[in-house]
Amino acid sequence: LPATVVTDPARMDSNEFVLSVKNLHVHFFTRNATLRAVSGVSFDVKKGETLGILGESGCGKSVTAFSILKIVPANGKIVEGEVLHRNGEGTINLVELDPKGEKLRDIRGNEIALVFQEPMSSFSPVYTIGNQIMEVIQFHSDSSVTQAREQAVDILRRVGMPQPDKTIDAYPYTLSGGMLQRAMIGMALSCAPNLLIADEPTSALDVTIQAQILGLFRDLQQELHLAVMMISHDFGVIAQVADSVLVMYLGQAMELGAIDAIFHNPRHPYTVGLLEAVPKFGRRGGAPLVPIPGNVPDLRRYPEGCVFHTRCSQAINGVCDVSDPPDVEVEPGHTVKCHLYG
Ligand code: SF4
Repeated sequence: LPATVVTDPARMDSNEFVLSVKNLHVHFFTRNATLRAVSGVSFDVKKGETLGILGESGCGKSVTAFSILKIVPANGKIVEGEVLHRNGEGTINLVELDPKGEKLRDIRGNEIALVFQEPMSSFSPVYTIGNQIMEVIQFHSDSSVTQAREQAVDILRRVGMPQPDKTIDAYPYTLSGGMLQRAMIGMALSCAPNLLIADEPTSALDVTIQAQILGLFRDLQQELHLAVMMISHDFGVIAQVADSVLVMYLGQAMELGAIDAIFHNPRHPYTVGLLEAVPKFGRRGGAPLVPIPGNVPDLRRYPEGCVFHTRCSQAINGVCDVSDPPDVEVEPGHTVKCHLYG
């Protein structure tokens, strides 16, 4: 894994954030309980940087990402925090916008675009790929049909679609998963957003296509100097594209730092556990994988103290099970939420 880490220090130096999430709390309200899906998560995504958000299923990474655009289920609510988005005109707190209002509708797709895991379910089966990309272009601009078609062909070419002038008239069911994901990325980029949020964009693809799509993300990001949030449960995916990583567990940020620091010098016991559970090519002597013991707790039985204490081999009795750990900066730009460093 470390051999594939992509880090460009020059890109990390930029202080120009496109998105700054501060102390985000998202709750889901059921008849019997309030579920804390996201608790106090903070991070920045800078221009030209890819932030990987990593964690097991149900850790809150997708809820965090979709909350940015206020796309939360009906029983969910952002109860605290700020989501600051910066564009050429200034900075706006997205939390304050009406989720159904014109301003947020304009930002969705135009300034912040989404790429989903399942491209097949993101396209309508009854319209061609071109119709759907052109519709997005025309929704967000004054382009004529002819101009929108030319732009759509150009976008498909940029995302590596073979024969874009013909593929534009293809229906989604005629394309492979990899091609559809290229088209989905093209549609996301069609209005030149400054932030791209990709939720497990390669999980539904086989490994060779996955590598191509991740390569495409890297190329486009460098070419367009985009800010990217890449959500994944897979360390290998994050290693290939991210400049920095946020590790989440049970809705909280466990560790945040540059990719090299997270891979080569992880500090949080959960990050260490995740890395030890990753199969490594050439693992010597058939050394067994080391799974993290136990299971992620049910949100209805939210643990007191450190949320990881029920599975942590280094938990300190009387401390970790009663007291919420502080966020500690263990080195510049590397933060860990753990009593071991408090
Ligand atoms: Fe483990 Fe305690 Fe650190 Fe939580 S605070 S990760 S339980 S050592």
